[in-house]
Amino acid sequence: KSSGIKIHQTDEAIGFIPLPDNSGKPITVIGNDAIRNSFDDTCLQQIVNSRMSPGVTEVILNPDGHAGYGAPIGCVMVSPTHIYPGPVGVDIKCSMSLLQTDIPEEAVADKSVRRALIDAITERTPTGAGRGTRSVKKGRKFTKELGIQVVTEGASPAVCEALGIPVEWAERCEDSAHLGHDGTAESLRKRLDFILETKRVKNFGDKIGQLGSYGGGNHFGECEITRILDLPSAKETAEVFGLKDGHVSFLSHCGSRGFGNILACAQFKDLETMFNKWGIPYPAGDKKLVYAPLGTPEANAYLDDMALGANFATVNHLLINALVLEAFQEVLPGTTGKLVYFISHNIAREEIVEGRKAWVHRKGATRAVPGGHFSLAGTPFAETGHPILLPGNPRDGSVVMVAQGGAERTAWSVNHGAGRQMGRKHAAQTLDQAAVDAEFDSADILYNSRKYPIDESPDAYKNFADVLNSVEAAGLAKTVAKLEARFVIKD
Ligand code: 5GP
Ligand code: MN
Ligand code: MN
Repeated sequence: KSSGIKIHQTDEAIGFIPLPDNSGKPITVIGNDAIRNSFDDTCLQQIVNSRMSPGVTEVILNPDGHAGYGAPIGCVMVSPTHIYPGPVGVDIKCSMSLLQTDIPEEAVADKSVRRALIDAITERTPTGAGRGTRSVKKGRKFTKELGIQVVTEGASPAVCEALGIPVEWAERCEDSAHLGHDGTAESLRKRLDFILETKRVKNFGDKIGQLGSYGGGNHFGECEITRILDLPSAKETAEVFGLKDGHVSFLSHCGSRGFGNILACAQFKDLETMFNKWGIPYPAGDKKLVYAPLGTPEANAYLDDMALGANFATVNHLLINALVLEAFQEVLPGTTGKLVYFISHNIAREEIVEGRKAWVHRKGATRAVPGGHFSLAGTPFAETGHPILLPGNPRDGSVVMVAQGGAERTAWSVNHGAGRQMGRKHAAQTLDQAAVDAEFDSADILYNSRKYPIDESPDAYKNFADVLNSVEAAGLAKTVAKLEARFVIKD
């Protein structure tokens, strides 16, 4: 049945959904005609539900938007007064990171070199649900003490040194460390004590043993060739980002693994219990939109758990990048590499929106702050804007973008990828395995498994060109470089 929700298109790639009673700021929708038609009724109903939820002052639906857990995946939700676990998601701080190496593309032209790289990488950073990095060599030891440091300190110099992560990579993180609800690490330590004592997270050691691994689903590692756009502005920005044209780079996608998942799921249960106890209705009757008003013990507990999970995700990504670099060095001795950036798409951050402090929930959305914005002062990207890492799909590529002033209209945010257009089952039923594999073969893109995971085929995702055209036409961000896949490591 149709939701009857209509998008009023005002520009080529910007539209609005007015509120039912015109009572506040309309929902902003980013997308050209093709993208606008890609939002199904469930997705549109979810974005309206999110907007009408208590304390929410603004929501944005991005071109990669599709139905998610309460709120759509591909949305931004702003609230000065409330925190929402659903619009952060069960994979707290799922993120993208990009490593730029000094290897010229010719060095990986040979299939056998790429096969050797796949083996060297998967030996160090296994994929698959529940799997960890226990086999790591080089004397890295995942003790409980180190685990505690990781989740309470994030990428601190001590944690980086203990794990063989270059300390200077910390400044290439959107956030290298997350603090507790009161702005201290002490509150995180207290919360972690409680979590371990009450066995909220069981087998903490096993969870810490997952550091440096991708996990299952659509988390991936992908070897790329960096292609910087042939424009003076793109070249200047690429230089600051540390991109190297015609050289090998490596894109990673993963989050906080089992540790973050358990914390997030326990929070949903806790909040549901509180809603039932207090007799408060769920927003739009959807329990996935449970929330906590800021300043309450429930909100504090959630913010602490989110920070603990986020610290795990940060160190997880940095360790993966260190292990990937180590793998490259084994196959191609002398390789050097630098982290370009690490940026999340499942997190709530306290930011200034339209002059007011608010929590910006990015659910499958990426922060997009342009050069000159006060929040980037003191970072390597103060003048250019920070790198935006946007995965598309292995066949059509991915991009590195940089924000434009227009992103002020979207609470300084863009999408986080192409976004699914087919559910996993639908993809498995309609797409042809042989055709998918043949497409990868003819493009000479290798993958680690015998068959490419059919539910992850490029056609299961929206048309990436439509998505990018929408972002650029709306004035949110522009492309700096394209990333061309040479091999994919996925589940
Ligand atoms: P999500 O975080 O919502 O699970 O997915 C992030 C995005 O990654 C998707 O919207 C999709 O565009 C992109 N993506 C998924 N799999 C791959 C892959 O194997 N390679 C690349 N380059 N992008 C992918
Ligand atoms: Mn993700
Ligand atoms: Mn994830």
